Amino acid sequence: MNNSPQDKNDFPLALTQLNQQFADLTPVACVWIQTIINTVNDSVILLDKNYTILMVNQTTLDLLGYSENELINQSIVNLLDENISDIATIESNLQETIEAAYLRKNGQEVEVLLSSQSIFYEDQEIMAIICTAKDISQEKRIEQLIRDNQTQLYYDLRHDKLTGLPNRRLFIEELEKSLQKAHEDTRFCFTVLLLDLDQFKLINNSYGHLMGDNLLIQIGERLKQYLHSQDVLARLGGDEFGIILNHLGNLEHTLEIVDLIKQDFARPFQLNGYEVYSSASIGITISDAKYQKVGDILRDVDAALNQAKIKDKASYTIFRQEMHFEAVNRLQLDNDLRRAIEHQEFELRYQPIVELNTTRIIGFEALIRWQHPEKGWISPAKFIPVAEETGLIIPLSNWILNQGCQQMCEWQKLSDHSQNLIISINLSVKQFSDNNLVEKIINTVQELGMNENCLKLEITESSIIKNTEEVCSILTQLKDLGIKLSMDDFGTGYSSLSYLYRFPFDTLKIDRSFIKDMAQSIDKLRLTQTIIHLANDFGMEVIAEGIETREQLQQLQQLGCPYGQGYYFAQPLTAQEAQKVILEGNNRLIV
Ligand code: C2E
Ligand code: MG
Ligand code: MG
Repeated sequence: MNNSPQDKNDFPLALTQLNQQFADLTPVACVWIQTIINTVNDSVILLDKNYTILMVNQTTLDLLGYSENELINQSIVNLLDENISDIATIESNLQETIEAAYLRKNGQEVEVLLSSQSIFYEDQEIMAIICTAKDISQEKRIEQLIRDNQTQLYYDLRHDKLTGLPNRRLFIEELEKSLQKAHEDTRFCFTVLLLDLDQFKLINNSYGHLMGDNLLIQIGERLKQYLHSQDVLARLGGDEFGIILNHLGNLEHTLEIVDLIKQDFARPFQLNGYEVYSSASIGITISDAKYQKVGDILRDVDAALNQAKIKDKASYTIFRQEMHFEAVNRLQLDNDLRRAIEHQEFELRYQPIVELNTTRIIGFEALIRWQHPEKGWISPAKFIPVAEETGLIIPLSNWILNQGCQQMCEWQKLSDHSQNLIISINLSVKQFSDNNLVEKIINTVQELGMNENCLKLEITESSIIKNTEEVCSILTQLKDLGIKLSMDDFGTGYSSLSYLYRFPFDTLKIDRSFIKDMAQSIDKLRLTQTIIHLANDFGMEVIAEGIETREQLQQLQQLGCPYGQGYYFAQPLTAQEAQKVILEGNNRLIV
């Protein structure tokens, strides 16, 4: 044994102390005890019944930075943190394992798992107490790190990175809370608003995405001003914001806020020195007893927003029950559409496009019709948006392209007059997301042996605004293949001149709203004239849409518009009717 006691006076302090306290313990036993506790990797402190330190092991000295002499005869209370540094706490925790902190000599705390065990005399009086402490500071640090990370992760999962606002997830959680509160307290009322920016894509495309981001941040800041601390403002994604008005969530207050937002949006936003205007369409729903699920609230506020978007820009709509039926109707329509594709319930109609001065037919626009087995004819204006939403537009458009081109090939063979007729096919914006679009079109034309110049594709301005670069590249490829391109409904969208310059259009179709109002409105007449000049300057052909009267025809002729279509000449015709017109009139419409 290394620590063999030679003389009691040579004993280290701890052994002397132990030996003095417990006369029954022989010096050898004391050395044994010390040797044993030194083999333990955790801190071991031996106390008398008054919590005075009698002996410590090497681990304790290493852990706390004290020498043995500095600890012996001190009260353990001096080593403990505030929470348990009174005797009563220690006593109440005796025999238990607790988390505590020892104080190092340098003042730092070290977290430990502390357990104590009393040794009793035969008469049950406490002889000594052994305190064992395991250093858990490392584990604690790791735990804290994980907690911090989790907190960050929790935060990130519920907030929008760009604006710092709550995101859809947190918005839904908050909506759940509001709904719960409304169920518990019938006097509590809240309102949900859904805001969608009008033409945000255009801003992104014109000024770049960084500026678009900047605008979203500024919009978030502006919206915040009108809300109370109990209210919630979230960015739900893209250009959509959600608001929960928990504070005064009644209709009157809601409309006041909507009014303030509208007024605020009348002021321009400053984007890198540019003044940019933005507006938002707003859907609104007010909590009421019928709502059981958050999903129902979201569905209704979404329906209200859809209605608002159909109206003018910057308008708002409060949810009405009928909208729910409209949404259900759309769902039904989607179902029916799927069946209609299988059962081939579609038909194409062909509206002649004529040279205004001669009424010679230069081509036909293919317009789809749906013969619903129960509901009769359904307008494309009604079902095309549903087909676009559900993706059915792709198979449907393939059918239209095939059918229209096939029909034109047959007509071209009818006579010398008809061999250069052009078929105009409307393209949906969704078709630009079809990676095989160009391939499909060229394959169709080639398989039919059709002259590429006899196919014209009509694209609306609004399709170009979405994904400008992609659309431009696709249109350029089509143009290079010899296919003709027409800008449809010109004047209804944003009518940016830069589009006319950048895109390879052959034809510009003046929207029928201009033609309709030309007789009454000098402004519309001038605009029509300007569009015709503009098209001439860009080397494009012009077609006036929706000519219904002789007066409109004459006005257009005076303005130098070369081509047109409309009920004045012919309604969209069935294939047989169109064929009859081609054959009987020698390609000339008799009006
Ligand atoms: P659009 O391409 O501008 O088609 C012209 C619309 O004006 C057609 O309505 C046509 O029937 C109507 N129209 C023609 N002449 C007159 C007129 O003198 N007065 C009035 N008031 N209207 C006239 P339709 O067939 O209901 O089509 C509406 C829209 O639906 C089309 O507008 C087009 O955007 C879309 N659409 C129609 N067929 C197709 C198609 O095959 N594919 C795609 N993607 N969209 C289609
Ligand atoms: Mg068209
Ligand atoms: Mg049109």
